[in-house]
Amino acid sequence: MSSAAENGQNDAPYLKNTLRLRSQAARVATASSTEDISRATRIATDAGLALVPLGEGSNVVLPEHLNALVVAIKSMGIKLLKDDGRRVRVRVAAGENWHTFVRWSVENGLYGLENLALIPGTVGAAPVQNIGAYGVEVRDRVVGVEVVSMASGEVAYLDNQACGFAYRTSIFKDMARREWIIASVDFQLDREALVQRDYPALSRATARYRGHPPRRDGGGYQSSWGASAGSRRENLTRAVFLKIRWSRAR
Ligand SMILES: Cc1cc2nc3c(=O)[nH]c(=O)nc-3n(C[C@H](O)[C@H](O)[C@H](O)COP(=O)(O)OP(=O)(O)OC[C@H]3O[C@@H](n4cnc5c(N)ncnc54)[C@H](O)[C@@H]3O)c2cc1C
Repeated sequence: MSSAAENGQNDAPYLKNTLRLRSQAARVATASSTEDISRATRIATDAGLALVPLGEGSNVVLPEHLNALVVAIKSMGIKLLKDDGRRVRVRVAAGENWHTFVRWSVENGLYGLENLALIPGTVGAAPVQNIGAYGVEVRDRVVGVEVVSMASGEVAYLDNQACGFAYRTSIFKDMARREWIIASVDFQLDREALVQRDYPALSRATARYRGHPPRRDGGGYQSSWGASAGSRRENLTRAVFLKIRWSRAR
């Protein structure tokens, strides 16, 4: 774990956030592992500071001064837990980028998350508001989460039900009960591509493209990177679906 003080800096750096608000915390620590997160909880307790986890800062409006120890979640890694030939279980570190993980899953023939492509943020933040898009929610694929207690620093495991998922929320979002930092998330994915295309905008988009396989060089969606986040997501989802259809047709 590193902190501003350990890095020899006098002032805490500005906190990363996609709105680019200038915000500084009393202390900042970077956590690359579950142990680092535990350590941060103890430092915060000793310093009498609140603890605030921060992913990619895409869903926060930060104040100019945050009287807290902000722990930037940077842990990386995807681990195979189980593979019965039909279903695969993977453990993903909280600091992984969400979209990179979705891409990785599709590229490795593991399905279930493709509708959630291009949602900004980290894997660790995804269960916090139970991210969802195009008729799919992350809770549909979360087996459980490894968490660190903000109060004690102890590591625990919460299964899907214990996460209290509901529409765009979970126990991790409820400020009154906010007691856990998510260190990693376990997902169950399918080898068979039973893609959910019932969502109206999606079924219209895929119908429009029926019979037009994507270009092998990927140019079909690379040219649209300049578009808005929403249409970029739709393009990528479309490209992912096309890729699935195309690979199954051959
Ligand atoms: C352009 C755009 C499009 C979006 N589209 C969608 C969409 O289609 N569907 C949807 O559901 N959402 C959508 N979102 C919301 C956003 O992508 C999610 O909320 C995302 O999961 C935030 O990730 P982050 O890493 O940036 O979290 P941050 O902004 O860093 O943190 C968000 C909250 O989660 C907490 N948190 C972060 N990491 C952890 C952790 N490891 N453990 C516990 N708490 C943590 C933080 O304390 C904070 O309260 C969109 C956002 C943008 C900007």
